[in-house]
Amino acid sequence: MLIDNYDLEVFTPPCDPGAERFAARARLTIDISPVLPYLNATLHGAVYKPTAQALTWKKGGHNIAFHAYEILTSNVEDRAAAERELHGLIALVNRAWERREEITPDHETHQRPTPMAVFKLLPQTNCRKCGQPTCFTFSLKLAASQVDVEACPPLFEPENVEKLTALRAIMIDAPSIN
Ligand code: SF4
Repeated sequence: MLIDNYDLEVFTPPCDPGAERFAARARLTIDISPVLPYLNATLHGAVYKPTAQALTWKKGGHNIAFHAYEILTSNVEDRAAAERELHGLIALVNRAWERREEITPDHETHQRPTPMAVFKLLPQTNCRKCGQPTCFTFSLKLAASQVDVEACPPLFEPENVEKLTALRAIMIDAPSIN
């Protein structure tokens, strides 16, 4: 186990005073920067900045940041929600660390595609089969790794094979360690 204890801080984001949602920080007593390349190799849509020893990731409506001595998450409703979220993230870090012999570390910075770049490769029929009201809404979520390409059934129809291939080429892809 890499992380076995932490201090929790729940606060209002400085850029959004008076917000009804909060940000939370786990202050660590151990440097987790050695695990970041393993998280980069396994977290879908992660953006790793080696020089800053930081890795950012979007999951379930949370903007998450891993730094050497802290883990931050946005958009939590209260202290209990913050504890649940950070507990899950710490378990994720510990699992990646325990499995590091099986994972090839990735030291590269992979840029997330822009929503517009994603949108240009969608069928653009606004058919709603993905559960989103428009293709552009889907592109926002896909660019943020909040949905998967597989959620758009029309992409898998023969006439869209070139779009699907191009879309997969620009998406950051990584196996999951969840
Ligand atoms: S299923 Fe695909 S084509 Fe239909 S609205 Fe969603 S993104 Fe657009």
